[in-house]
Amino acid sequence: MSIPTQSRVVIIGGGIIGCSVAYHLTKLGWRDVLLLEQGRLSSGTTWHAAGLVGQLRSQSSMTRLIRYSTELYASLENETGLATGWKRCGSVSVARTEERMTQLRRTISAARAQGVEIEELSPQEAGDKWPVMRTDDLVGGVWLPGDGKANPSDITQALARGARSGGATVREGVRVTGIETEKGRVKAVQTDQGRVECEVLVICAGQWSRTIGQMCGVSVPLHSAEHMYIVTGKIAGVTPDLPVMRDPDGYIYFKEEVGGLVMGGFEPDAKPWGMDGIPHPFEFQLLPDDWDQFGILMENALQRVPALETAEIKTFLNGPESFTPDNNFLLGEAPEVAGVYVGAGFNSMGIASAGGAGRALAEWIVEGEATSDLWPVDIRRFADFNNNPAWLKDRIKETLGLHYAMPWPNRELDTARPFRRSPLYDRLAAKGAVFGSKMGWERANYFARTEAERSIGYSFGQQNWFETVAAEHRACREAAGLVDMSSFAKFLLQGPQAETALQRLAANDVAVPVGTSVYTALLNARGTFESDLTAARIAPDSYLLLTGTAQATRDAHWIRRQLPEGVTLTDVTSSYAVLSLAGPKVPEILSRLSPTSFDLADFPANAIRKITIGYATTWACRRSYLGDGFELYAPVEFTAAIYDALHEAGADLGLVDAGYYAVDSLRIEKGFRAWGRELTPDVNPYETGLGFAVKLGKGDFLGREALVAAKAASRTKRLIALVGPRPNGQMAWGGEAILADGKPVGEITSAAFGASLDGIVALGWASSDQPIDQAWLDARSWAIDLAGTTVPVSASLAAPLDRKR
Ligand SMILES: Cc1cc2nc3c(=O)[nH]c(=O)nc-3n(C[C@H](O)[C@H](O)[C@H](O)COP(=O)(O)OP(=O)(O)OC[C@H]3O[C@@H](n4cnc5c(N)ncnc54)[C@H](O)[C@@H]3O)c2cc1C
Repeated sequence: MSIPTQSRVVIIGGGIIGCSVAYHLTKLGWRDVLLLEQGRLSSGTTWHAAGLVGQLRSQSSMTRLIRYSTELYASLENETGLATGWKRCGSVSVARTEERMTQLRRTISAARAQGVEIEELSPQEAGDKWPVMRTDDLVGGVWLPGDGKANPSDITQALARGARSGGATVREGVRVTGIETEKGRVKAVQTDQGRVECEVLVICAGQWSRTIGQMCGVSVPLHSAEHMYIVTGKIAGVTPDLPVMRDPDGYIYFKEEVGGLVMGGFEPDAKPWGMDGIPHPFEFQLLPDDWDQFGILMENALQRVPALETAEIKTFLNGPESFTPDNNFLLGEAPEVAGVYVGAGFNSMGIASAGGAGRALAEWIVEGEATSDLWPVDIRRFADFNNNPAWLKDRIKETLGLHYAMPWPNRELDTARPFRRSPLYDRLAAKGAVFGSKMGWERANYFARTEAERSIGYSFGQQNWFETVAAEHRACREAAGLVDMSSFAKFLLQGPQAETALQRLAANDVAVPVGTSVYTALLNARGTFESDLTAARIAPDSYLLLTGTAQATRDAHWIRRQLPEGVTLTDVTSSYAVLSLAGPKVPEILSRLSPTSFDLADFPANAIRKITIGYATTWACRRSYLGDGFELYAPVEFTAAIYDALHEAGADLGLVDAGYYAVDSLRIEKGFRAWGRELTPDVNPYETGLGFAVKLGKGDFLGREALVAAKAASRTKRLIALVGPRPNGQMAWGGEAILADGKPVGEITSAAFGASLDGIVALGWASSDQPIDQAWLDARSWAIDLAGTTVPVSASLAAPLDRKR
């Protein structure tokens, strides 16, 4: 059968993801949809998936997405007449150690905050639910009744049938061989059976997606790894309604299949595959058995299920799956080519995620922007350099194992580092910097004072750097601290119409005199956050934009696609370093080095000026994410000299280096919101307490109409600040349930030890059916659930440091 020469949408890939996107596009009324599959439907990775569907994720937006998958899989048979094998059998997760049990209790707290049904189990109760396991070496477990399992190929066929019924065309045996673009937009795909013109191209080609992206210059940073499980013959006590069971300390999972067990897992040191490309054809194909690689899983499985000793092993299944650098999938419009969308890299969660991810991507295509918070999986959290194959191969060895690795707070990945380095990297390393990594940048988390602190001592309580970071924090408040924030993303927005263009995107008024900086939100038409950034006007036709490290690709894409002709956005991240200085002694330190007056009267808040420091010339801006201070935006080549001069001049005034852990505690105390934590596309400035940075009277801007309505509406959801006692054992890290009069009302988004207040400080959400104001907060007793321990806190709308005590 020939293929159409034209289709509004072409989807590449007939796995579960491509079929889900096609299905949901037709549900949204788009019928001119063509899905091309080189082999047969589900013949890539989907057919050999184990089919576990676990709902709970660390981000509530991701939990919502999977919850929708389970609802869809439960209803598809009625709609399409094809069974999906969905069974809500529930799942048990067990803990072998006290630390794992603490983690599971933290999971219970997060589930309470997210409204997911969950229950703590004793070892015996876990054994009652899953009788074939040994329990005498367990500390406990949890029970998630809403989890289940499904048949991946059947879901794929049901989705494809639903898509066809909705008007989509599905063609098997058609291979895409090239992609044509014109003026930065997708134009057509070439296939082994002809050319198809399209407006929208959706790459859902699983592990092939990186290569397909390269056909049109789109980065899809993923890499394949071998992924294995076994299937046993019948085992006594294994019944069809047996729940799914996870034993993360042993890296393993189990599910029932025809009276036997499927046992697989996520080994800590994975085996990358496909370094020289995926062989063709690779349809319904597997890789050779590798019992050496599987050994660590088998050993642990034998410990958990003694009956495996004598069970028949009917199948050893080794299939490749694609993994990404952070173990989250890749979704959204590719920033490089308009009209190209990606849904790939599912890290062995594609079956669980497909329903929600397919719907989210279809909505993104139809609306032209994401309709909810998808930041954890947004493809724009990566950049072109993340597509480096050597880097990907080394990183993927680690990310597969993250599924069951202990999700320590602040856990840093160890592989494929150091990656991006600031000009001060060696100086900071020599001073004991313990680095973390964000968007590939090596950033000092803190400066070790003892040998023992040179690596992070992970725990859910106070970690080994606790006192050191508290000292850095206090120095930044009471004397002077210096943080290398060179990883900030920086852009130059230039052109005669730069002010008009930025006024249209920004919620704050950016029509300010040259030499002024403005903190502003960038909103979408729904009036919710796409970004928050600082716009510093450095010339009548030029703004220097400073935004979060992780937002570089996303913000550039969001801004560029909306710029009028003649206004340009240039990424200058690599040209400027940023030195952030905070504390009361900072003006004096700068005065020792520069003829500029740093008195508040001469250099007011938000002002930006060019200054000299020794032989160097740099921008200095009176603003700080840490409290009161200055940021220097220095050409990279002058940075080392400026850094040395600052330390020389500041030594007797108490200037210290500080790292990002101190930055976090300082900014939470001050109530400064962070993108991706407090600020997301699900919330507006009034809910987040940033109404002061919205200027409805300045004229029209993106999101204004929605904000007018939001301002008038009663506030039943608000970001609040919490202050608790000095941590005693358990620490708050984010994700924990916030309790009002003992009932969960929301979750913590950011938390730290606030050294200035000598207690836990946190920001988080409270929701109610009544309007929330300070009186409403005062009328309730507040607490947070830290791994099952209820810790009383005070709640306020004002920042922790500014609240009335
Ligand atoms: C052993 C194993 C166990 C797993 N267990 C689970 C589990 O329990 N739960 C869970 O949620 N997930 C699990 N997964 C993961 C899950 O299987 C995947 O995440 C999911 O199948 C990915 O679906 P996909 O549609 O992205 O990719 P695929 O199914 O690989 O589909 C991509 C399709 O694109 C086609 N294609 C590629 N190139 C072209 C081209 N040029 N032209 C046309 N078509 C092309 C391919 O032929 C392929 O069919 C498991 C994976 C493995 C390997």
